[in-house]
Formats: sequence, structure tokens, C-alpha cells
Amino acid sequence: MRRGWRAPRRKERRTLNRFDVLTLFPAMFQGPLQESILRRAQDKGLVTIAVHDLRDWTHDRHRVVDDVPYGGGAGMVLKPEPVFEAVEALRQGPRSTVVALTPQGLRFGQGMALELARLPHVILLCGRYEGFDDRIPRGLQALEVSIGDVVLSGGEIPALVVLDATVRLIPGVLGDEASALSDSFATGLLEHPHYTRPPRFRGMEVPPILLSGDHRAIARWRRKEALRRTRQRRPDLLSRASLSDLDRKLLAEIEREDAGVALENRDERD
Ligand code: SAM
Repeated sequence: MRRGWRAPRRKERRTLNRFDVLTLFPAMFQGPLQESILRRAQDKGLVTIAVHDLRDWTHDRHRVVDDVPYGGGAGMVLKPEPVFEAVEALRQGPRSTVVALTPQGLRFGQGMALELARLPHVILLCGRYEGFDDRIPRGLQALEVSIGDVVLSGGEIPALVVLDATVRLIPGVLGDEASALSDSFATGLLEHPHYTRPPRFRGMEVPPILLSGDHRAIARWRRKEALRRTRQRRPDLLSRASLSDLDRKLLAEIEREDAGVALENRDERD
């Protein structure tokens, strides 16, 4: 994540994380927040997620939240007044972090999810139409976050992406904490491939080592396949990953194996 923003470090972990979401479409959150891991995390009391209708902070009969852009042009812009009022009502002093979802923000990723999971209170602002009046993120000192170089119709799905990725990293949320630690990106690499039963399916075999019961050999195979996958699919990650001596040895093996395959393929073509 961008240098210059780091979640404040805490001496001890709090037991509760709270997320307040400000949106014009609260119903979009109903399904995702009521299923699976996000549901369980709330049921276990590990996180509170409250979704608020931004129109609740308007004062006119038509509950207007947007207006035409100064300077002309297409689309509508979210007005500052209701957003400021809402955030001021929800904010809990310095323990709160305001996140504005925008395609122009810092790129969301596993690192940022980990940082957000450490925060006691996050307010997520979902934009719509042409987006926020620029004084909103500026005046609220919001962290502007993008889920990728793509433009969605609103901030609701990006907010759900942030919520899902972040909440599963809060200690106690996943049944098996180790699974988040070995997930893609958590280690700086893509994760190794997975297999389940049956051992042979439509002519495709599970790698025999996984059936061997030899846990050391399996761990080595998994690390090697994680390296192989990352090298093939995301060399950019590999160049930034911190690699052990064993990793370097495994990568040398992979390079030799791949060179052998390339040679075999050439011989077959000739
Ligand atoms: N006119 C804006 C621009 O070009 O930057 C795009 C506005 S978009 C149609 C409406 C809202 O969707 C944004 O205010 C934001 O909240 C949300 N949104 C769209 N794409 C997003 C992304 N990649 N990451 C985070 N939020 C996004």
C-alpha cells in the first residue's frame, strides 16, 4: 500500500472491530452480510457491521443527496452536506478511520486488508453517479481506496470486497487461522494448487506426493508449486518476495525442469 498510510499500531488487540457503511443502497448489503463468514463473524461478536442510508442525513422533502456538477457536464455529484453530517454522527474520535471508495484511490490488496483488520472502527463511504464532491474525502481526511482499475456503478460492491477481505483476517473469524496465512498474497506468493477426492478424475491424477502421508515432502512440494505458479503467472510478485535459501534452491529446480520441458517440446516439434 502507499507509503505514508499505516494503521496505528496497538499494544493489545481489541475484541471488537466495527464497520459503518454509508450508502444510497443499503439493501445491496443484505445478502452478502447475512451469509457464510461475514455472517459468522458478526454472530460470534467479533465484528459489528452497520449499514446506513445516506438519505437519513438529508433534511429536505425529497431527501436529495446529489446535485449537478459545477462547470457543467454529464452526471450528478454527491453533495458534501449529508456525507459530512453522517460521518460526524458516526465518528468515534481518533479511533475511527474514514475510507472513501473511489476508482482514483490507493489500490486495495491483502496488505491493506491486514492493516484495516487491525483498526477498531472503519467508516466506508460508497459513492454513486460521478462520485463524491472532492471536498468530501479532503475534508473528512478519508483514505481513498480503489479495488482495481475498473469503474463500477457504485461503491457498494467495492465496500463488500473490502469488508469480506478484511473481516476474514480478524483473529477468530476463520475456523482455521492457518488457511489465511497461506492464502495467495499473504506470503507474497500465489498459493500452491489444491486437490481433493477422487484421486483420479477424467484421466487427471492428483500428484502422488499428496497421497504419500509424508508431511515434510508435502510441505516442500507445496512451497515449490507456489513458487512455480507465481513465477509463471505473477513474476512481478516473485521479484518482490522475500525468498529463503530453500526457495532459491526450489526455483533453480523449477528453472531446470522448465528448461527440460521446453527442450522436450522442441524435440517433439523437430
Ligand atoms: N466518475 C468517477 C471516476 O471516473 O473516477 C467514477 C464514478 S463511479 C461510476 C461511482 C462510484 O462507484 C464511485 O464514486 C465509487 O464509490 C464507486 N467505484 C467505482 N469503481 C470503483 C473502484 N474501482 N474502486 C472503488 N470504488 C469504485
